[in-house]
Amino acid sequence: MADRSSGGGHRHHLPDVRALRAPAAQSAGEANPPLRGTGQRRADGAVALPESAGAGHRHFLFFFSDTGGGHRACAEAVAEAVAEHGRADVTLVDIFRASQRFPFTRFPELWPVISGGRGRAWGLFYRLSNHPLLVRSAHTAFWPYVRRALLTMLITHPADLIVSFHGIPNLSLLWAWRALPHQPPLVSVTQDLISVHAAFFPPGFDLYFVPTETARRKAIGWGIAPERIRAIGNPVRPSLVRDARQPQQQARRRLGLDEQARWVLITGGGDGRGGIARILSKLARLRAGTHVIVITGRNEALRRRLHALQLPLHLRIEGFVERMGLWLNAADVVVTKAGPNALAELFIAGRPAVLFRAIPGQETGNVTYAVEGGAARWAPTPDAAAHAIIRLLEDDALRRRMGSAARRLARPQAAATVAEALFRLVEAR
Ligand code: UDP
Repeated sequence: MADRSSGGGHRHHLPDVRALRAPAAQSAGEANPPLRGTGQRRADGAVALPESAGAGHRHFLFFFSDTGGGHRACAEAVAEAVAEHGRADVTLVDIFRASQRFPFTRFPELWPVISGGRGRAWGLFYRLSNHPLLVRSAHTAFWPYVRRALLTMLITHPADLIVSFHGIPNLSLLWAWRALPHQPPLVSVTQDLISVHAAFFPPGFDLYFVPTETARRKAIGWGIAPERIRAIGNPVRPSLVRDARQPQQQARRRLGLDEQARWVLITGGGDGRGGIARILSKLARLRAGTHVIVITGRNEALRRRLHALQLPLHLRIEGFVERMGLWLNAADVVVTKAGPNALAELFIAGRPAVLFRAIPGQETGNVTYAVEGGAARWAPTPDAAAHAIIRLLEDDALRRRMGSAARRLARPQAAATVAEALFRLVEAR
């Protein structure tokens, strides 16, 4: 991205700035020219969005991590809404990768292992650690180890405003931010709909965005002042909303899909998780000839495996897709892990869903929300998932009903709402 030290944004001068200078790899990355668009990645995980400096122009810093695909998707959604506003540029930084602190630097790769299998160990850890006192103890223990790295990150990315889209680092981030001589507004954006974690809500941030009223009440219970918490839905990229809402035939044509067939879309989040091959095998046995799109995300091994399977299905296999809105739009039934962003997006597309997996703890509440809202069926075994898919494919009225229920849960304005609030925050300073 462009050299921030020569323009725009606050400049932070700590007594020990030189001692905290950015490590070589990070500095080298920053010498790259600005990247255009939301989908381009740099080695350190940072993405710079278009700049158009001028009077009143602002610079925002967004922290996320590629632990799954949701934190990035949410950060990019708000970044895109900010870019549409046109008076700020945004730098996205993968806070773990850029931390220079092992094992945090490896979190994105470790995440599928940490939450893998049935995820029971992770679910237990999530529930047991979900209290502000435990969050504080963990951060107190790690603070001597991460302090310098976090300060370095803040100093090397001076900004008019900072947003965290990940809960785990929030308390340490807050402590590092307090050490800055000029503190820009600090904001937290939470993705999970119901089963939110206390780590997202250390008191001291200027604003906290959460997807639902339930999440808001939990944050209030953990001591956050009600006026600082906004329940606005889960931010989705404005371009995804447009893709998801164009006529279905148009989306299918663009993707080269049979326009007359009934399509099932299967996706397991950014990491392509959760026994997708077994669901396909079962579906092939029960209903040969079904048209299925599988999006394997970053799971290359799954993609190769599916290509090798010779199943009697009309299969379209995709790796990581940039325009998820088009794929959701093209589908008649969506089969997905209960990730909060996947749900927010399929609500916008207004498609009925079969949920086949939820990461225990954090995603459990997402299932309840979608099923009670009438938009989804919970089918956690390959057999149940295959039967639920067939039922939906063969019952037009049920598909329509669930699709309408999904649309009622949609919050397509969430990204714009956050972006507007961010501008208001910096203008109020
Ligand atoms: N995603 C994408 N392309 C892919 C697979 C996934 O853009 O090929 C996006 C998807 O649209 C969603 C996010 O990755 O926004 C997945 O987030 P979610 O919270 O559903 O699950 P996670 O991957 O974080 O577990």
